[in-house]
Amino acid sequence: MRKNYCIANWKMNQSIKDCKNFANYMENNFNYNSSEMLICPSFIHLDLMSYLFTASQIEIGSQSISEYQNGAFTAEISCEMLLDMNINWAIIGHSERRQIFKESDYEIHNKLKNAVQNGVNPILCIGESLEQRQSGNTESILKNQVKMAINTLDFTDVNLIIAYEPVWAIGTGIAADLSTIADTHDQIRSFLPEFISTSKSIPVLYGGSVNPDNCKEILNIENVNGFLIGGASLDPQKFLNIYKQMNEIGVESL
Ligand code: PEP
Repeated sequence: MRKNYCIANWKMNQSIKDCKNFANYMENNFNYNSSEMLICPSFIHLDLMSYLFTASQIEIGSQSISEYQNGAFTAEISCEMLLDMNINWAIIGHSERRQIFKESDYEIHNKLKNAVQNGVNPILCIGESLEQRQSGNTESILKNQVKMAINTLDFTDVNLIIAYEPVWAIGTGIAADLSTIADTHDQIRSFLPEFISTSKSIPVLYGGSVNPDNCKEILNIENVNGFLIGGASLDPQKFLNIYKQMNEIGVESL
């Protein structure tokens, strides 16, 4: 069985009050179903969120991790620190990290390696720019991002998730069109076995302007196994609405 995931990426948003309101809303309205829900707040709210969701089936993850183990790396956050807060998920290689903070494929690989070695479940983001899509290079760009990130890593002991996020659809309010999502997810599914022996069980999520109005039709696409959501995840009502629609579609059995 391949699970569906509904993952929130809060980026550099939300206050302590927002975290508490979100947790309160979920406590009163969330019912666990067949899909997983995961929230990735900023580093500074991880401890609070981990505490607020202690008794919940909703899991908490970080938006990045250090590529280093521990030591003299000012402002970095280690896997060990996350695990100490009962956090065992981390987003790696988000396009904002790649573009704004110039994270290289090499760093992304090192972060992934660090996650695997420490038992942190990685959510690896891949995605092409508009220019890359327009020049017909999408498949080779995505394949190369996966190849460089994974190299020879083995994912037997962690749950790897791939999030396909076309850079040109993130935060624009306009998701990629359905045929683009379908074609690209098919391409990812077909090249994944070249790099991961257990690829069949790895969920491939879509991310880029998902909201309660467009999520159902995207979820109906065969190889879409859930979402990584930015803007619409900040509002607990919208986010739970998407989660509920995901559960109506159910889980893909392999
Ligand atoms: C994201 O940045 O991961 C994302 C998908 O953002 P949004 O949903 O706002 O497009």
